[in-house]
Amino acid sequence: MNFHVITLFPEVCQAYTDASILGRAQKTEKGKGAKVRGKKLSITYYNPRDYTTDKHHKVDERPYGGGPGMVMQALPILQAAEKALGRKDRKKVKVLMMSPRGTKFTQTFAEKVAKKYSEVVIISGRYEGIDSRVKKILKAEEVSVGDYVLTGGELPALTIIDAIARNIPGVLGTFESLEDERVSSGEMYTRPEVLEYKKKKYKVPKVLLGGNHAEIELWRKNLNN
Ligand code: SAH
Repeated sequence: MNFHVITLFPEVCQAYTDASILGRAQKTEKGKGAKVRGKKLSITYYNPRDYTTDKHHKVDERPYGGGPGMVMQALPILQAAEKALGRKDRKKVKVLMMSPRGTKFTQTFAEKVAKKYSEVVIISGRYEGIDSRVKKILKAEEVSVGDYVLTGGELPALTIIDAIARNIPGVLGTFESLEDERVSSGEMYTRPEVLEYKKKKYKVPKVLLGGNHAEIELWRKNLNN
Protein backbone atom coordinates (compact mmCIF):
# COMPACT_ATOMS: atom_id res chain seq x y z
CA MET A 1 0.00 0.00 0.00
CA ASN A 2 1.32 3.40 -0.94
CA PHE A 3 -0.02 6.45 0.86
CA HIS A 4 0.41 9.89 -0.71
CA VAL A 5 -0.31 12.75 1.65
CA ILE A 6 -0.83 16.26 0.34
CA THR A 7 -0.34 18.72 3.19
CA LEU A 8 1.14 22.12 3.99
CA PHE A 9 2.71 20.53 7.09
CA PRO A 10 4.49 17.36 5.99
CA GLU A 11 7.07 17.45 8.77
CA VAL A 12 4.36 17.44 11.44
CA CYS A 13 2.78 14.30 9.96
CA GLN A 14 6.04 12.54 9.22
CA ALA A 15 7.16 12.71 12.84
CA TYR A 16 4.17 10.56 13.68
CA THR A 17 4.32 8.13 10.76
CA ASP A 18 8.06 7.47 11.23
CA ALA A 19 7.52 6.23 14.79
CA SER A 20 6.66 2.80 16.16
CA ILE A 21 4.57 0.39 14.08
CA LEU A 22 4.03 2.68 11.07
CA GLY A 23 7.75 3.48 11.01
CA ARG A 24 8.70 -0.19 11.07
CA ALA A 25 6.20 -1.06 8.34
CA GLN A 26 8.00 1.33 5.97
CA LYS A 27 11.34 -0.45 6.33
CA THR A 28 12.84 -3.68 5.14
CA GLU A 29 13.96 -5.58 8.21
CA LYS A 30 16.40 -8.40 8.68
CA GLY A 31 14.96 -10.92 11.11
CA LYS A 32 16.49 -14.04 12.62
CA GLY A 33 18.74 -15.97 10.25
CA ALA A 34 18.13 -15.02 6.64
CA LYS A 35 14.56 -13.91 7.29
CA VAL A 36 13.72 -10.58 5.74
CA ARG A 37 10.55 -8.66 6.48
CA GLY A 38 9.62 -6.69 3.39
CA LYS A 39 8.21 -3.18 3.38
CA LYS A 40 4.49 -3.24 3.97
CA LEU A 41 3.78 0.34 3.03
CA SER A 42 5.20 3.64 1.92
CA ILE A 43 4.09 7.11 2.95
CA THR A 44 5.13 10.00 0.71
CA TYR A 45 4.44 13.64 1.46
CA TYR A 46 3.73 16.41 -1.05
CA ASN A 47 3.63 20.06 -0.07
CA PRO A 48 1.37 22.16 -2.35
CA ARG A 49 3.86 25.01 -1.85
CA ASP A 50 6.35 23.03 -3.95
CA TYR A 51 3.85 22.90 -6.81
CA THR A 52 2.82 26.52 -7.09
CA THR A 53 4.00 28.88 -9.79
CA ASP A 54 3.50 31.85 -7.46
CA LYS A 55 6.86 33.36 -6.65
CA HIS A 56 5.98 33.70 -2.97
CA HIS A 57 4.75 30.09 -2.92
CA LYS A 58 1.30 31.28 -2.00
CA VAL A 59 -1.31 28.52 -2.10
CA ASP A 60 -4.43 30.22 -0.71
CA GLU A 61 -6.75 32.96 -1.95
CA ARG A 62 -9.90 34.75 -0.84
CA PRO A 63 -13.18 32.92 -1.48
CA TYR A 64 -15.38 33.88 -4.44
CA GLY A 65 -18.74 35.13 -3.25
CA GLY A 66 -17.22 36.52 -0.09
CA GLY A 67 -16.98 35.11 3.39
CA PRO A 68 -14.28 34.79 6.00
CA GLY A 69 -10.84 33.27 5.66
CA MET A 70 -8.89 31.84 2.78
CA VAL A 71 -9.39 28.88 0.47
CA MET A 72 -6.65 26.54 -0.72
CA GLN A 73 -6.18 26.86 -4.46
CA ALA A 74 -6.86 23.91 -6.73
CA LEU A 75 -3.85 23.90 -9.03
CA PRO A 76 -1.00 23.28 -6.56
CA ILE A 77 -3.00 20.39 -5.07
CA LEU A 78 -3.83 18.93 -8.48
CA GLN A 79 -0.20 19.11 -9.49
CA ALA A 80 0.90 17.43 -6.27
CA ALA A 81 -1.65 14.66 -6.93
CA GLU A 82 -0.37 14.27 -10.47
CA LYS A 83 3.15 13.88 -9.15
CA ALA A 84 1.90 11.26 -6.68
CA LEU A 85 -0.07 9.18 -9.14
CA GLY A 86 1.66 9.54 -12.48
CA ARG A 87 0.15 6.93 -14.74
CA LYS A 88 -1.06 4.60 -12.00
CA ASP A 89 -4.13 2.46 -12.69
CA ARG A 90 -7.09 4.47 -11.36
CA LYS A 91 -8.89 1.29 -10.31
CA LYS A 92 -6.31 0.83 -7.58
CA VAL A 93 -6.38 4.47 -6.49
CA LYS A 94 -8.54 6.01 -3.77
CA VAL A 95 -8.50 9.76 -3.25
CA LEU A 96 -9.71 11.01 0.11
CA MET A 97 -10.26 14.66 0.92
CA MET A 98 -10.37 15.60 4.59
CA SER A 99 -13.53 17.53 5.41
CA PRO A 100 -15.73 17.94 8.50
CA ARG A 101 -18.73 17.43 6.21
CA GLY A 102 -17.55 14.19 4.61
CA THR A 103 -18.52 10.53 5.00
CA LYS A 104 -17.89 9.44 8.56
CA PHE A 105 -14.65 7.44 8.78
CA THR A 106 -15.18 4.06 10.45
CA GLN A 107 -13.38 0.75 11.02
CA THR A 108 -15.41 -0.77 8.16
CA PHE A 109 -14.28 2.01 5.83
CA ALA A 110 -10.65 1.41 6.86
CA GLU A 111 -10.91 -2.33 6.19
CA LYS A 112 -12.49 -1.78 2.78
CA VAL A 113 -9.81 0.64 1.65
CA ALA A 114 -7.05 -1.69 2.87
CA LYS A 115 -8.53 -4.54 0.82
CA LYS A 116 -9.42 -2.76 -2.35
CA TYR A 117 -6.74 -0.19 -3.14
CA SER A 118 -2.97 0.00 -3.47
CA GLU A 119 -2.63 3.79 -3.73
CA VAL A 120 -4.35 6.09 -1.27
CA VAL A 121 -4.09 9.84 -1.76
CA ILE A 122 -5.03 11.90 1.27
CA ILE A 123 -5.61 15.61 0.83
CA SER A 124 -5.40 17.65 3.96
CA GLY A 125 -7.01 21.06 4.08
CA ARG A 126 -6.19 24.19 6.05
CA TYR A 127 -7.87 27.58 6.50
CA GLU A 128 -11.49 27.48 5.25
CA GLY A 129 -10.89 24.41 3.12
CA ILE A 130 -10.06 23.42 -0.45
CA ASP A 131 -11.38 24.73 -3.80
CA SER A 132 -14.24 22.36 -4.66
CA ARG A 133 -12.96 21.68 -8.16
CA VAL A 134 -10.25 19.45 -6.67
CA LYS A 135 -12.90 17.03 -5.48
CA LYS A 136 -14.58 16.96 -8.87
CA ILE A 137 -11.42 16.56 -10.94
CA LEU A 138 -9.83 13.87 -8.76
CA LYS A 139 -13.15 12.13 -8.04
CA ALA A 140 -12.23 12.38 -4.39
CA GLU A 141 -14.38 11.21 -1.52
CA GLU A 142 -14.76 13.68 1.35
CA VAL A 143 -14.12 12.02 4.68
CA SER A 144 -14.70 13.27 8.22
CA VAL A 145 -13.15 11.81 11.35
CA GLY A 146 -15.91 13.11 13.59
CA ASP A 147 -18.48 15.77 14.27
CA TYR A 148 -16.15 18.56 15.27
CA VAL A 149 -14.08 21.06 13.32
CA LEU A 150 -10.29 21.01 13.51
CA THR A 151 -7.87 23.67 12.27
CA GLY A 152 -6.46 21.33 9.64
CA GLY A 153 -6.69 17.95 7.97
CA GLU A 154 -3.38 16.66 9.32
CA LEU A 155 -4.77 14.85 12.37
CA PRO A 156 -7.60 13.33 10.30
CA ALA A 157 -5.03 12.23 7.68
CA LEU A 158 -2.90 10.55 10.35
CA THR A 159 -5.94 8.92 11.92
CA ILE A 160 -6.97 7.49 8.59
CA ILE A 161 -3.50 6.26 7.61
CA ASP A 162 -3.08 4.62 11.00
CA ALA A 163 -6.44 2.85 10.92
CA ILE A 164 -6.00 1.64 7.33
CA ALA A 165 -2.38 0.56 7.83
CA ARG A 166 -3.09 -1.79 10.70
CA ASN A 167 -5.39 -3.73 8.36
CA ILE A 168 -2.59 -4.41 5.90
CA PRO A 169 -1.25 -7.93 6.40
CA GLY A 170 2.09 -7.94 8.22
CA VAL A 171 1.89 -4.42 9.63
CA LEU A 172 0.96 -5.60 13.11
CA GLY A 173 3.27 -8.10 14.78
CA THR A 174 0.79 -10.93 15.08
CA PHE A 175 -2.34 -11.79 13.23
CA GLU A 176 -4.29 -12.11 16.48
CA SER A 177 -3.74 -8.43 17.20
CA LEU A 178 -6.17 -7.69 14.42
CA GLU A 179 -9.10 -9.63 15.81
CA ASP A 180 -12.30 -7.65 16.11
CA GLU A 181 -12.18 -8.09 19.84
CA ARG A 182 -9.35 -5.61 20.00
CA VAL A 183 -11.76 -2.88 19.14
CA SER A 184 -14.31 -3.88 21.71
CA SER A 185 -12.60 -5.86 24.49
CA GLY A 186 -13.13 -3.76 27.55
CA GLU A 187 -10.33 -4.38 30.05
CA MET A 188 -6.69 -5.34 29.94
CA TYR A 189 -3.97 -5.80 32.53
CA THR A 190 -0.21 -6.30 32.66
CA ARG A 191 2.40 -6.55 35.44
CA PRO A 192 2.42 -6.12 38.34
CA GLU A 193 -0.22 -8.53 39.57
CA VAL A 194 -0.94 -6.26 42.53
CA LEU A 195 -0.57 -2.56 41.89
CA GLU A 196 0.05 -0.44 44.98
CA TYR A 197 -0.89 3.16 44.48
CA LYS A 198 -1.36 5.75 47.21
CA LYS A 199 -1.64 3.10 49.92
CA LYS A 200 -4.29 1.13 48.08
CA LYS A 201 -3.96 -2.22 46.35
CA TYR A 202 -5.41 -2.91 42.91
CA LYS A 203 -5.48 -6.54 41.82
CA VAL A 204 -5.66 -8.14 38.39
CA PRO A 205 -8.93 -10.13 38.05
CA LYS A 206 -8.26 -13.69 39.29
CA VAL A 207 -9.61 -15.39 36.19
CA LEU A 208 -6.77 -13.93 34.09
CA LEU A 209 -4.12 -15.52 36.30
CA GLY A 210 -5.51 -19.06 36.19
CA GLY A 211 -4.59 -19.97 32.61
CA ASN A 212 -8.04 -21.44 31.88
CA HIS A 213 -8.57 -20.09 28.38
CA ALA A 214 -12.21 -21.06 28.07
CA GLU A 215 -12.97 -19.27 31.32
CA ILE A 216 -10.98 -16.23 30.22
CA GLU A 217 -12.84 -16.05 26.93
CA LEU A 218 -16.15 -16.26 28.75
CA TRP A 219 -15.10 -13.50 31.18
CA ARG A 220 -14.09 -11.27 28.27
CA LYS A 221 -17.33 -11.92 26.45
CA ASN A 222 -19.36 -11.01 29.51
CA LEU A 223 -17.45 -7.76 29.85
CA ASN A 224 -18.64 -6.74 26.44
CA ASN A 225 -22.29 -7.37 27.13
N1 SAH B 1 -15.15 26.28 7.63
C1 SAH B 1 -14.61 25.10 7.09
C2 SAH B 1 -13.73 24.44 8.13
C3 SAH B 1 -12.41 24.14 7.59
S1 SAH B 1 -11.44 23.34 8.76
C4 SAH B 1 -15.71 24.15 6.69
O1 SAH B 1 -16.84 24.36 7.09
O2 SAH B 1 -15.44 23.18 5.97
C5 SAH B 1 -9.94 23.25 7.85
C6 SAH B 1 -9.58 21.90 7.29
O3 SAH B 1 -9.44 20.99 8.36
C7 SAH B 1 -10.60 21.28 6.37
O4 SAH B 1 -10.39 21.65 5.03
C8 SAH B 1 -10.35 19.79 6.56
O5 SAH B 1 -9.33 19.32 5.69
C9 SAH B 1 -9.82 19.69 7.98
N2 SAH B 1 -10.82 19.21 8.97
C10 SAH B 1 -11.35 19.90 10.00
N3 SAH B 1 -12.19 19.16 10.73
C11 SAH B 1 -12.20 17.93 10.17
C12 SAH B 1 -12.87 16.71 10.46
N4 SAH B 1 -13.71 16.58 11.47
N5 SAH B 1 -12.63 15.65 9.66
C13 SAH B 1 -11.79 15.75 8.60
N6 SAH B 1 -11.13 16.88 8.28
C14 SAH B 1 -11.32 17.96 9.04
